[in-house]
Amino acid sequence: MNPLEKAGPALAETVADLRGTVAGWRREGARVALVPTMGALHRGHVALVERALREAERVVVSIFVNPAQFAPNEDFSRYPRTFDADLAALTTAKADLVYCPAPETMYPAGFATTILPEGPAKAGLEDRFRPTHFAGVATVVAKLFIQSGADIAIFGEKDYQQLQVVTRVAQDLDLPIRVLGEPTIREADGLALSSRNRYLTPEERAAAPTLHAAMQEAAAAIRAGIAIDGAVAQAHKRIEADGFVPDYLEVRDAVTLAPVGEVGQAPLRMLVAAKLGTTRLIDNIPV
Ligand code: AMP
Repeated sequence: MNPLEKAGPALAETVADLRGTVAGWRREGARVALVPTMGALHRGHVALVERALREAERVVVSIFVNPAQFAPNEDFSRYPRTFDADLAALTTAKADLVYCPAPETMYPAGFATTILPEGPAKAGLEDRFRPTHFAGVATVVAKLFIQSGADIAIFGEKDYQQLQVVTRVAQDLDLPIRVLGEPTIREADGLALSSRNRYLTPEERAAAPTLHAAMQEAAAAIRAGIAIDGAVAQAHKRIEADGFVPDYLEVRDAVTLAPVGEVGQAPLRMLVAAKLGTTRLIDNIPV
């Protein structure tokens, strides 16, 4: 290996370390992009890092499984933690710094401030089933933005409501950062890559691509002039026939996430969340 080549990303576990490194880059005139993750990295996360490297000279990837965005009945303790593999993937992807704070660093004793987003965070989609989720996301993401001082943050469209919420939070709080969305990376059969796919049994994995296929079929029908309600009802039936128990499958305004009755001028997004066995999958596509 060329001795000047980077061996792997630097690690920072404290806000002071993170800020110190970013300050050094700033003195060199570099732009800084942040990719927030919860680890268990896959090709979808790598695509975010690659986008970040196209937008900025330096890239920080945060790995923090944020307890505040999990409800007590959710999978916080069993959420996959694969730090060594994550570091290997980020070395290959050429990330510059991995920020991996301990929970006590993010939420020290006495921590008492939470951001309560509304608008897209109260659209009646994920928030209906995970009522405390976006407060946890908004709070940790605002902290990551402020801690890193990054110019740009990259989020996946995979978590589409989250992308709209985070965009709104940055705008509403005048955080000096540009939030960019990156398209969802999928398996060849259409299943969106997710750290939670590893929970699927082989039978569930075989059925899982129906989620994307049913949405594509419905979106094509709507574009062909079929009423939204009818197309969505058909998609519901199709995923239920393959064993999914849907939480929601809806067509919404692509930015505000407000309900829409019919196709108009504004871009639309179809969003779904459904359980397959004990695993809850989410996905979305443009209409
Ligand atoms: P997570 O670690 O699951 O919280 O995700 C971290 C970031 O990766 C979020 O911005 C996600 O939207 C994004 N992400 C997750 N899965 C994918 C995917 N299949 N394609 C693109 N981005 C993704």
